Formats: sequence, C-alpha cells, structure tokens
Amino acid sequence: MKAIIYKSTGSWYEVKTEDGKWHNARTVGKLRLEDNFSTNPIAVGDIVDIHIENEEEITINNIHKRTNYVVRQSPRKKHQVHLIAANVDQALLIITIREPNLKVGFIDRFLMMTEPYKIPVIIAFNKSDIYLKEDLEVFEFYKDVYEKIGYTVILTSSANNYGIDNLRLLLKNKVTLISGQSGVGKSSLVNAIQPGLKLRTTELSDYSGKGQHTTTFAEMYDLNEGGMIIDTPGIKTLAFNTFEITDIAHNFREIFKYSEDCKFANCTHRNEPKCAVKDAVENGEISIHRYENYIQLTVEVEEQNYWEIHKDI
Ligand code: GDP
Ligand code: ZN
Repeated sequence: MKAIIYKSTGSWYEVKTEDGKWHNARTVGKLRLEDNFSTNPIAVGDIVDIHIENEEEITINNIHKRTNYVVRQSPRKKHQVHLIAANVDQALLIITIREPNLKVGFIDRFLMMTEPYKIPVIIAFNKSDIYLKEDLEVFEFYKDVYEKIGYTVILTSSANNYGIDNLRLLLKNKVTLISGQSGVGKSSLVNAIQPGLKLRTTELSDYSGKGQHTTTFAEMYDLNEGGMIIDTPGIKTLAFNTFEITDIAHNFREIFKYSEDCKFANCTHRNEPKCAVKDAVENGEISIHRYENYIQLTVEVEEQNYWEIHKDI
C-alpha cells in the first residue's frame, strides 16, 4: 500500500497511508544496503510502499522516485549527506533583522540546499512588529536583491498578525519545507498560520558539548486548508564538504546565468580576465551583496578541500 513518510527517528518511520491511517513502519535490510549516498535511506516526504503483516510488523519495501530532495552535509560522515526531506514544492526560510540580529550570509547558505533542484523559496522577514525605520530599509534592500533573482520575499509578524493571511495563502495546497535558526519565531509563526499546530521537533545543535554531533530529523504536518509543512530543526551551521567551487557557482542562479559568457569555461569569477560575472557586478546587474557571499563561500569550500587533501600531514 502507498504511504507518505511524516516522521523519521532513524529506525522507525511514522507513515500515513492513502486511506488516511497512521502506522509505524520500519525498513527491511535490503533498502538500507542499497543506499550509500545518504546516511539515512528515507526522508520525510518520501512516498513509499508498505507491507502490513500485522500492526507490529509493517515494512517499507519500496521508495518511489523523488521529484526532488533537500540534503545537508552529514554531521558525522564527510562526503555523505543527510537527507532532510523529499518531494517538496517550496521552502520557507524564516529570518529576522532583530532578536536575534540578522545573519547576513545565512540566506545564501540556505539557498545552497534548495538551488540544486530549483525549489522555489519564500524568505520571510519575521518579527516585523519590532523593526525600526532603518530595519525596514534593510528589509527593502534584501527584498529588492532577492526578488530580482526570482525569490519571494515577505514581511511577517505573529505578534500583530502582519502578513499571516498572505503566508497562509502561499502555503495552501503545497508541501513546504520550513526552516529558520533558533529564536526567529518559527513556532509562533506556524501557530499563527494554524492555531493549535504545535511543532514537536526540539531544538538541536550541530555540536553538543565537546564537538559531538546530534542528529537532526524533520517532521511533516498536515495543514487544515490543504497542504503540508515540513519542520526542520534549527540549523546553526551549514557546511558544504561535498561541494566544489563550481557547485557554489551553479547554485547562485544569476552568477550561473552570466557565467555562460565568461571567456574561460572553468572561470571561477574571481581573478580571471573577461569574466562576464564580474562585469555584471560592476554594472549593477548582479548584486554586490550576492557576489560577496559567493566569494565567501568559495573561500570556505577551498579551505575545506585543502584540509581534506592535506589531512594526513
Ligand atoms: P523559534 O525558536 O524560531 O521556534 O521561535 P519561537 O516561536 O519560540 O519564538 C522565539 C522568541 O521570539 C519568543 O520569545 C517569542 O515570544 C518571540 N517572538 C516570536 N514571534 C515574534 C514576533 O512576531 N514578534 C516579536 N516581537 N517576538 C516574537
Ligand atoms: Zn567568470
């Protein structure tokens, strides 16, 4: 029988079958072995076939082909990724300018996860009720930068309900991956969209105590008006150990677009001559903010790869 994965604990999966019934299912050995690309074989949002022997023995024996998926670097294993969610229609990134202060590079880091499959992203600047005039100017700046390249940028507040009806409409009948760093007001915002919906996922950090990793699992919830949201535990850092510089360039959509006209096919858009990307930055077609973040991420990738190559020294 066909079912959708709503929750995963690593060994058990909470699934809902086509007839609306809930079950706990587990994978059989074969499925686990076939997978070597991610640390977890199945993600929230996956469509699977289950076999119900009896209520205690329900096995997942097939995963349907995914339309897309979102991964992050595995916290434990280099060169392996952790599947966060599959088959999503869009992502909602919640950020705020105040309490906590805006982390400027975070938007572009997040987009590195959604761009490989061109998953549409809504960026919500939350807690607008406490923004000062200059904060609203900052918001307008980013709205302009990100809307120009095709993302949706909105202003929200669960404290005074600003933008909530609009957001509810944006989520209706879609499967939306929701993400935001701890404290940005994600739980309150979800509760404003659908009173009574309490996110159960607890806050997890990448490093607990002395460099130990904790695992992050997502969970899916039905929306009363149609559609689902997938809550992802707050992600403090986003590393890209599996990335090369060209991957970064691909995931900055406007940089990728202009790169077609660079003189060198392997141009990294930094010091190369006749670089169409740098030209576009100079004449204002590519935002300097985005270009600087691109450079920052290429530096990080280079450092990672350097230590990867030289780790035996
Ligand atoms: P989460 O960690 O992202 O799920 O954030 P919470 O929803 O738990 O909220 C974190 C803190 O921000 C709490 O103290 C909330 O009262 C506060 N908060 C949440 N939403 C808003 C908002 O729209 N405006 C203001 N001013 N504070 C908010
Ligand atoms: Zn170039």
